[in-house]
Amino acid sequence: VEQPKPAALHKVARAYDVPFPTLMQWAGYLEADDAQLSPNQAMALRVLGDPSDDELRALREIIKVLRARGSATATPFAADRPLDPETRQEIVRYAYALLHEAGVDSRPTPLHVVQSAAGLVAAGELTLTPKDRDRLVSRFGGWVSRAWQNLLGAMDFREDAIWVKPDLHPKRERWVRAHEIGHAILPWQRETFAYLDDQTRLNDATAALFEREANEVAAEILFQGKQLQDEADGSPITLEGICELAALFDTSIVATARRVADRTGQECAVAIAHQGRDGWLGPTHLYCSRSFEARFRWQAGRRPENEIRTALRSAALIVRRNEVSLPDARAERAALRLETLNTGYAAIATFVRDGAVRRFVRDRAHALGAR
Ligand SMILES: [Zn+2]
Repeated sequence: VEQPKPAALHKVARAYDVPFPTLMQWAGYLEADDAQLSPNQAMALRVLGDPSDDELRALREIIKVLRARGSATATPFAADRPLDPETRQEIVRYAYALLHEAGVDSRPTPLHVVQSAAGLVAAGELTLTPKDRDRLVSRFGGWVSRAWQNLLGAMDFREDAIWVKPDLHPKRERWVRAHEIGHAILPWQRETFAYLDDQTRLNDATAALFEREANEVAAEILFQGKQLQDEADGSPITLEGICELAALFDTSIVATARRVADRTGQECAVAIAHQGRDGWLGPTHLYCSRSFEARFRWQAGRRPENEIRTALRSAALIVRRNEVSLPDARAERAALRLETLNTGYAAIATFVRDGAVRRFVRDRAHALGAR
């Protein structure tokens, strides 16, 4: 059984008039900043009035069951794991409302207009107070300065201000800004952050989930809902087409390729490996369209690691095209069009089922002939 996600709990809290942070705590999304959970647990229980012993026992059972079942604290979220449909639906709703509010009707998305519509201002220089710094250093040691350098953006909920690291690559800057807007407009995140204090923090899995949610909002805002999918599905997917779409939406090729694979109705898989300064490729991230996954089951553990890595390693600064034949989940050979590109930041490989391309062309011809 899946643990109800924060987006779902937020709806429950509204419907039943239960304090949302209490539900978040019961579900194990929040945890004590130190060993003692009691002050916050007590606070959570106090909110419910004055429970009897039986009620307390029941509450403890619920907490136990919620924790043991999905154990949000024990489930490591794979970074690429897609969000559940209900969370996605909520994200689409809030992102759409914001785009509508901002009156966005052109591409690329005018991000500063969207930011103002969300009621957010630009933060000044971001600094740590000496006290914050000491606290962080005592807890995380040398990791603090490293994390600080890697910090790309931040959302300050008290000031409704967004900070984006200066001098980022413009496309990166757009992504980070849209991501921080995402943190700001999802009410369950806003209310959770408002509740955090010195005693409480998000557990790691929840923090990772919130990051993925913010990324999903960023994609919704930058690709304007179904706009990218409509464009991508107007013709068979190619890497050159993805590059053109990236230019149209003013987004990185990597983010565009990922979103195309995520949403297209065509049979398509995209493999991405980020490239370090020294030229070494990082781990493979794989994104498969629903129909591709149904046929090949790569995300379910059947991905041909060697073929994918070889393709990524051979990627060059121009798009290269190849035909490969790989077994599908029923061990039948399927022809795939493989294209590779190295953007300088990442190696990208797309696998598009050739039959799908042929069928697409044929259907197009029919449609044109019927006219
Ligand atoms: Zn974030």
